[in-house]
Amino acid sequence: MGLKDKVLVAGAGGFIGGALVSVFRKQGYRDIRAVDIKPLEEWYQRFDGVENLRLDLNLKENCDAAATGAVDIYNLAANMGGMGFIEHNKALCMLSVLINTHLLQAALAKGTKRFFYASSACVYNADKQKTFEAPSLKEEDAYPALAEDGYGWEKLFSERMCRHFMEDYSLRTRVARFHNVYGPWGTWFGGREKAPAAICRKVIEAKVSGKHEIEIWGSGNQTRSFMFIDDCTEGIQKIMESGILEPINLGSSEAVTINQLVDIAESIAGIKLQRKYDLSAPKGVNGRNSDNALIQKYLQWEPSTSLRAGIEKTYRWIYDQYMARERGEAGVVREASASV
Ligand code: NAD
Repeated sequence: MGLKDKVLVAGAGGFIGGALVSVFRKQGYRDIRAVDIKPLEEWYQRFDGVENLRLDLNLKENCDAAATGAVDIYNLAANMGGMGFIEHNKALCMLSVLINTHLLQAALAKGTKRFFYASSACVYNADKQKTFEAPSLKEEDAYPALAEDGYGWEKLFSERMCRHFMEDYSLRTRVARFHNVYGPWGTWFGGREKAPAAICRKVIEAKVSGKHEIEIWGSGNQTRSFMFIDDCTEGIQKIMESGILEPINLGSSEAVTINQLVDIAESIAGIKLQRKYDLSAPKGVNGRNSDNALIQKYLQWEPSTSLRAGIEKTYRWIYDQYMARERGEAGVVREASASV
């Protein structure tokens, strides 16, 4: 893959896709095609000098059009969100199977050389995530399969489809299982946001309103690890370049409880809040962490941005968005066009 070759980023109007386009641009890629179903004004990041297309990639003919001429395809398009979204939209999450299936077929038909698929830690067997002590999930823990209902099963199925396209048709596929990605330009309000952005926003709301309370979903003892967006885009590229044939974890191994995540956001904001726990809210599995032995073995690398450093950047970005919104400057929220 050279800097002049065409690269397709599917889901480029979203959080990770947008960040990947930004990285490719900085690296000097000259022929980037960015595709998303959302109207262009709603993309989180949109860039000049990039072929920005609004296409529904559920449809095969649109995948064919998007893949035409592309040497590399990065599939980051999916219907997804935080726990609240995926627990209430299982059918919609499963329909993302259409995107990956049609993109794989298009990649074959159009002679694409390499194909990247964004899978998720939600493929892991739920029985291995019952304790709060953040079990480190190894790649083999996806089987016997008992994935997150809806969203996780679609990811597991699509992982396997990538594998069989590689085995049967020699398409060079690579699959990474992302563990909770966060950072600037991510969803921070509206119902699809994940825990780090939701907590930053709630802390900011409390600070600005003077009502020093925060509602936390679950007991706050659930453990997770969170990967900063820059580590994610670096890992995607490393995995695409690598000879790694099986799905591999791409996540931070710094596990924290949701309460500790709130501690960090509070300390950045310089306030202490009264915590209210909503035990009936969607909260996901009790504990989950990324076991990074395999990625270390293959790449001698793993995501390393500390949670404190990453949350600090994310908090400041959300704060700016929040304040802009308060001032009625809606354009600054979500629609950050042509930022480099
Ligand atoms: P996102 O929701 O910000 O981006 C996904 C994009 O896909 C959206 O902009 C959406 O409009 C687009 N899309 C949905 N349906 C489409 C269609 N039919 N045609 C074209 N575009 C369509 O999500 P993200 O956080 O950037 O996630 C990217 C990928 O990484 C997804 O596959 C997601 O499942 C996976 N992932 C993300 C995380 C995370 O923490 N963010 C964790 C695990 C896996």
